[in-house]
Amino acid sequence: MAGRRGPDQPGRAITAFLLAVTLAAACVGQAPRTPSCPPARGELTVDDLPAGSSVLDCPAVGRVITHDGAGLAVPEPGTTVSVDALTADGSAHGFTLTVAADGTVSYAYEAARTEAVRGGRADAPAPCADAAYATAGRKEYGTYEWFLGDGRLPGGISRAEARRAFEDAVATITASRNDCGLDDRVAAKARYLATTSSKADIDRETRCMRPDGLSVWDTGDLGGDAVATTCSWSRPAPGGGPEELLEADVRFNTHDYAFTDDPSGACTRAYDLRSVATHEAGHVFGLGHSGPGHENLTMFASSFACSTSARTLGKGDVLGLRSLY
Ligand SMILES: [Zn+2]
Repeated sequence: MAGRRGPDQPGRAITAFLLAVTLAAACVGQAPRTPSCPPARGELTVDDLPAGSSVLDCPAVGRVITHDGAGLAVPEPGTTVSVDALTADGSAHGFTLTVAADGTVSYAYEAARTEAVRGGRADAPAPCADAAYATAGRKEYGTYEWFLGDGRLPGGISRAEARRAFEDAVATITASRNDCGLDDRVAAKARYLATTSSKADIDRETRCMRPDGLSVWDTGDLGGDAVATTCSWSRPAPGGGPEELLEADVRFNTHDYAFTDDPSGACTRAYDLRSVATHEAGHVFGLGHSGPGHENLTMFASSFACSTSARTLGKGDVLGLRSLY
């Protein structure tokens, strides 16, 4: 009957056409899902890719999401990315985005500062009397191997000196060095590898970009608010517990701030490179910010010009590391 010509043939054609139109309409009918997908172009906010949405339903991997002065590129499924900015004014900029293995998105935000610090450091507990800490739900299970970028360094600081300062800062975390008489029970490990032409995967607007697998400490521009920023990427640990660190990059904002390795004497506005580095190393190893009212801890969200107090850890900083390692 295949070759049959008959009066019903045009009818079939019309039926097929209508069926195609119906199918097309059915596809358009799936459009109610698309309003939950972000706009196809440009930067997104967390509202454009809300918690519970999926990067598989709405292609979003690699798109930049901004929130509260920081940002990050949506990572591959099975990955968490965190941005932590250290500011000059006490404001906290940072958040965490997790893309589960099934593509589902979730966020974690630092508790927003709701009121100005009244007494600041003078009214806050002394570092050895302050047990406050926060952890970020991730840790380095092996050895944190890191590189030093080959770009420019803050005025007067040689690359060898910067390396020593950063190695000391990392060692302060891994050995939980403190002036409180607390013994070292922290089993964290780190190793400096080499200088590299690779960059920290952080852009000039304090946004964590696509990770390249190398943990790099370098300098650059982070926009006006951030003195330094750490971006970290992690994945679920096989045995449960804190996530496993994959990469952590640190950038110092040498575009907007002055740094010094010797903040004595005439220092008026420079930031102590070692104090800032110790704070950032705390993030690398999974510490979060200690929160308002804890200005004298190394993991307080703000840095203080010319102060060296964050070079060594306070009680809460040590307790936070002990809780992870
Ligand atoms: Zn911080």
